[in-house]
Amino acid sequence: MRTYHTPLDLVRSRHLENPVVCRRPERLARANRWFQENFPGDVLYAVKANPSDWVIDELCASGSDFFEVASLAEVELIARRAPDARIAFLHPVKSRHAIRRAYHDFGVRIFAIDTHQELEKILEETDQADDLTLVVRLAVSSDFARFSLAGKFGVTALDGPELIQSARHHAHELGVSFHIGSQCMEPIAFRAAMLEASRLIVQAGVTVDIVDVGGGFPCIYPGMTPPAMQRYIDAITDAFQDMLVLENAKLWCEPGRALVAEAESLIVRVDLRKDDTLYINDGSYGALFDAAHAQWRFPVRMLTREDRPQTPLSGFKLFGPTCDSIDALDGPFDLPSDIDEGDFIEIGMIGAYGVALTTQFNGFGAFDHVFVQDDAFATMFGENNQPTVIPAQSAFIDEGIAR
Ligand SMILES: *Cc1c(COP(=O)(O)O)cnc(C)c1O
Repeated sequence: MRTYHTPLDLVRSRHLENPVVCRRPERLARANRWFQENFPGDVLYAVKANPSDWVIDELCASGSDFFEVASLAEVELIARRAPDARIAFLHPVKSRHAIRRAYHDFGVRIFAIDTHQELEKILEETDQADDLTLVVRLAVSSDFARFSLAGKFGVTALDGPELIQSARHHAHELGVSFHIGSQCMEPIAFRAAMLEASRLIVQAGVTVDIVDVGGGFPCIYPGMTPPAMQRYIDAITDAFQDMLVLENAKLWCEPGRALVAEAESLIVRVDLRKDDTLYINDGSYGALFDAAHAQWRFPVRMLTREDRPQTPLSGFKLFGPTCDSIDALDGPFDLPSDIDEGDFIEIGMIGAYGVALTTQFNGFGAFDHVFVQDDAFATMFGENNQPTVIPAQSAFIDEGIAR
């Protein structure tokens, strides 16, 4: 795979038929090293955010040895790419076949539950194993997250203590976990959830070996600049001290988005302009699902094959390539007012839940991939590890480093 200095170099040196995913291994390694060094416990990468081989490889190279998976295919992926890594199977609802194969064929010992029925399934399919780490997933509020994960998983406060007791009875190690929702904008959300977990543990009256605070760590999108990542770590560290758990209880987290969002951007081509609408060659059935379905705003900049005088920005709506009218990205996306057919747009921060959600619908869905060496549009791990937005100026990018 080719490495280019910048996406602009790529656009100016090659004919591009397919949309191009630009991979930034340095951004991924930096985010991962930051978490490995600053989180006071184990960091499990949540594989669903971006299961690309290069991501798993780069994470391993920068310190990861523990992964959170939700399906047998993800178990197989980690077993293949990172054979020495530990795997936690933390989907609270698994098929019997997946439990059996994970335990017997892949050595997985860590499983999540949020019901007695799932506990029974795990015990039956592992032949009443006595070496299980069982993690009870608790339902907590999603109030501070931009992407709610409430309502689908997690045992309620009413039923939690009893399930924790049952799990304790069968577990070699017992954990509790929760997910406060994705792109959490307030560190205090972790504290609130951890104190709620503490309350349920006390009610259950048993000891707990692991507190798993889940994912939800944020990254930067237009109009969404979260507090510094260290504030999340501080909130978790403080709350952990206030929890009534054993002195030697372990702390885990499961970041997905925060590790990979900055690590990929996407180059799309404008195939037609109608007034303030641009028809581009990727969309909601491709790597831009969230832009269409969650009205997520991604940063954009124009890349042109030749230098042109800069024109003022104006708001555009984007249409993806499929024939489906929901393949539309309302934006508005601010781009130079003279943008037209044959120009390119780089869409930033699509490393999380971008490539992971692509489909082949309507014959689209083929991507090219390159490595690039410039900065991402924004980073949580800038100078002094402060959130840093690199103004994505539009038409002209000297050496690809936007000013
Ligand atoms: C999706 C998911 C994560 C990752 O969430 P982010 O918001 O991307 O950090 C972690 N744990 C579980 C159980 C998940 O389902």
